[in-house]
Amino acid sequence: MILEKYSFGIGDRFCHQGKAQLSAIMKAKEQGLSITPVWNKSHREHTIIGTTPADTRQEALDAVKVLQWDGPYFVDADHIGPGNVDRFIESSDFFTLDVADFIAQPADKSDIDAFVKKYSKYIGSLTIDGIEHTLDITEERIRAIAGEFLLAVRQAGGIYRHIAEAKGAGSFITEVSMDETDQPQTPIELLFILAAIADEGIPTQTIAPKFTGRFNKGVDYVGDVTAFAKEFEEDLAVVAFAVREFSLPGNLKLSIHSGSDKFSIYGPIAGALKKFDAGLHVKTAGTTWLEELIGLAMAAPDGLSIVKEVYAKALYRFGELCGPYATVIDIDTAELPTAEEVDKWDRQSFASALRHDQSCEQYNPNFRQLLHVGYKVAAEMGTRFTNALQKHEAIIAQNVSENIYERHIKPVFIGSL
Ligand SMILES: [Zn+2]
Repeated sequence: MILEKYSFGIGDRFCHQGKAQLSAIMKAKEQGLSITPVWNKSHREHTIIGTTPADTRQEALDAVKVLQWDGPYFVDADHIGPGNVDRFIESSDFFTLDVADFIAQPADKSDIDAFVKKYSKYIGSLTIDGIEHTLDITEERIRAIAGEFLLAVRQAGGIYRHIAEAKGAGSFITEVSMDETDQPQTPIELLFILAAIADEGIPTQTIAPKFTGRFNKGVDYVGDVTAFAKEFEEDLAVVAFAVREFSLPGNLKLSIHSGSDKFSIYGPIAGALKKFDAGLHVKTAGTTWLEELIGLAMAAPDGLSIVKEVYAKALYRFGELCGPYATVIDIDTAELPTAEEVDKWDRQSFASALRHDQSCEQYNPNFRQLLHVGYKVAAEMGTRFTNALQKHEAIIAQNVSENIYERHIKPVFIGSL
């Protein structure tokens, strides 16, 4: 199974926007841009919402059937680890092996020694096509990288083999993710992580490093855009080099997690993809749930009262909801409106505070991030929430589809807004 050059992680908290999401991918196809949709959903999301991986598969199947999509598509077991992989085996054909928790856990000294010995040929000044300067590689550096990442990659190998045994090698796509950690990985680290992945025999087609800067959920990139652009280009160069050097899958590409709404880096990303003729996978799942809220808010009065209730409860349960997302949100609580204030808002005020339009004075990224992680509240509303999604399907679908196509696909893959 081969993942094509461009792919897009849509996923969907409540499994209601499959068609709206797919319609955005189809719109790209009409423009001559081929993108594989991947419905991704993590164990964390399933647990919080009370859905199963089979629900995600069904959502994809329904959307594909109704819209008569004849291209490839996948269902991604997102951020899975040894403890929860089994419940995804049957329904998924894309597995994102999350081994971030094993970073910095030391591997056996003999394993580290063997790794250092094997890759000592790169010690010195390494030239890589596409990187202007040479990479200075020392034995100490390789040893430090092995100490940091070797055990994590071994873990990924274990999960990969477990899945391959159950499903058959070649019958699924593998991604290795290390994004949910505090320290970004440098291009040199990425190079040796890929070497270790090749040694483990993991046929990874996508790799999700932690990039420099903050990739907070649902809001723009926070950090030095120039530094990101340089690192991203170097990562692309390293991936291309690693494919040749370590015989990794020829279509191996970077995967950007929490990739939605990073408007300020889409330009540099699009430019780099063209420059390196590289592919990309972008995960954007959570942004669709926010478009559902915007659609509901616009569908006053019943939809508006539901979203106000979601906000009030999310604010009250701030710590509980934000906890699992600590590394991927930054909320300034002083900037959060009170529930009483929000209760007075009309539909336009609610939608304007939430919609990601940085030119709009009412836009509030703190409000947006809290709602981003507040989907548990809506899940607990049960059919009251999902019935509202159904009732207001038309306006929500329009928001979902437009957001994906206009604000994400176009700037990332076409390179224009
Ligand atoms: Zn991630």
